[in-house]
Amino acid sequence: MRVYRGLIASEGVAVGPLTKYGFIDALSSVPSNCPTSNSYFEVSRLEKALSKFKEYLVSLKKTLPESEHELINAHEVMAEALVNEAASHVVEEGVCGELAVKRVFEKYSDLFKESGSGLIALRAGDLRNIASAIVENLTELKPGIGGGIEVGGKVVVAKELNPVDLLKLVKQGLRGIVTLTGGVTSHAAIIARAHGIPYIIVPELDLSEVSEGELAVIDSIEEKLLLNPSEEIVSIYVERASKYESLKKWCREASLKEAVTTDGVRVGVLCNVGDLEEARAASTSGCDGIGLFRVEYLYISSSSPPSEESLYTAFNKVLGFFNGKPVVIRAPDLGADKPLPYIKLEESNPFLGLRGVRLLLEYRDEILNPFLRALLRASTSGNARLLIPMISRVSELIEFTEIVERTLEKLRAEGIASGSIEIGIMVETPAAAILIDKYAKVPQLKFISFGTNDLTQYTLAVDRGNVKVSYIYDELDPSIIRLMALAASEARKRGVEVEVCGEMAGRQLAIPLLLSLGIDALSVSPPLVGLVKYTVSKLSRRDLERELLTKALNSTSASEVKEFTKEYLKRAGIEIF
Ligand code: PEP
Ligand code: MG
Repeated sequence: MRVYRGLIASEGVAVGPLTKYGFIDALSSVPSNCPTSNSYFEVSRLEKALSKFKEYLVSLKKTLPESEHELINAHEVMAEALVNEAASHVVEEGVCGELAVKRVFEKYSDLFKESGSGLIALRAGDLRNIASAIVENLTELKPGIGGGIEVGGKVVVAKELNPVDLLKLVKQGLRGIVTLTGGVTSHAAIIARAHGIPYIIVPELDLSEVSEGELAVIDSIEEKLLLNPSEEIVSIYVERASKYESLKKWCREASLKEAVTTDGVRVGVLCNVGDLEEARAASTSGCDGIGLFRVEYLYISSSSPPSEESLYTAFNKVLGFFNGKPVVIRAPDLGADKPLPYIKLEESNPFLGLRGVRLLLEYRDEILNPFLRALLRASTSGNARLLIPMISRVSELIEFTEIVERTLEKLRAEGIASGSIEIGIMVETPAAAILIDKYAKVPQLKFISFGTNDLTQYTLAVDRGNVKVSYIYDELDPSIIRLMALAASEARKRGVEVEVCGEMAGRQLAIPLLLSLGIDALSVSPPLVGLVKYTVSKLSRRDLERELLTKALNSTSASEVKEFTKEYLKRAGIEIF
């Protein structure tokens, strides 16, 4: 069996034989040399192609639920921007419309990819879909349907899927979708969600290693694709697929209520989001606010740092979606896996280099000051909280809080409305976890948030993106639990709130342990809100503290921890997915 981690574009559990699907990429058929002497004509072709694309969006909207309409609107805005820039390119460079569209697409796609962030790189997929559709309209190329293959009951695997093809496949009754590229906000993802078809994006998958007809399982709960599983695993998943339908119902019901344990402890369930569209969608997920707004996309997707005004507008919007509920905005966590096109860092070990708060303190004028000014201004319109990434020394927190104070004073002196803000730090390094009692002495520190993705990486000395050592990477390793237990108890003793915003917060097997540490809130990706609330509401914190915590602190391996946690969940009558 081969197991791949992926990004879930549409939830669900699917089991079925794979079929490879050919994607006709209009962009790759654009010639690299395509001069024009009639730029007026080319620009008018572009305009026509754009209106045709808009007509398509209008018809697509009619087939989709209201909740997805905003995303379609966002695609319209992207298409307009793409065509506008392509039109300038036609005029300035004297090239045909198709080539101009392709070049504009490549420019932004390279920027997204260079970002090094998997999430942002996937945004390039949305742009590719749009650019391909515009080129198709220009050339009147008909989107390909892969030779009329039959996909009923099958899991389709493709490099990428265009929405028109997908709608046809949906009619044939496909069971699941796997693509190598694409985005969670692409049209294909929207259509899959609207039709309840599980869809996973797996960039690491090598299509040449996939055989026609081999069995595939898509598991959106564990965000995995399994290829060629044993009969035993298949039967587990066949059962899981039917249980998933009941779980969906419970989770939907749970997401509408508060998450309260059976012994009356209320736990906040917050959302992690990576851009404004996701934040808007999250506001209807049933969550209690945002626990992590990753703002890096604003920095990585352009050739210069965003202006104070554009940041202010973005923060105001997200605060508006949440209408007084807490919104934790993380100061840009740049460097390492999120490099910047406009700051060249030559480092042999970037994960241990100038990243997170270290980079912010180094590039105050260019990055930190505009960010803080925008955030402090926007904080008048909602419940904003500020989270500092990648802290490893108490002095960084002190220096940061002093800068926040000075920025506030400056804004006041300029007569600009601004509000004070609660400050938290991410606990992503063992150094921060071990010294939490010292950090807690800084009066401005109101909360900590465990960034377990990095905390696991730095504690176990294992690159979080390296598949060769992924067998070592596990947040349930007792070393991580001991560190978290120490930090959580020191923070709580001193009245500092404790949250978890790494992926661990949404891992069902980790939830009992996190509750046993006395955490106040879990911040998870929006589709997991219901599952987390369902699980929390079936557990007793007192009981967990008594039974589970001591065992976990005294165990030797992650597998041991998983073993008894599974058993505990079963005894508590909780369905495990
Ligand atoms: C983390 O490290 O757990 C975290 C939430 O930050 P990111 O995944 O953005 O590094
Ligand atoms: Mg991190």
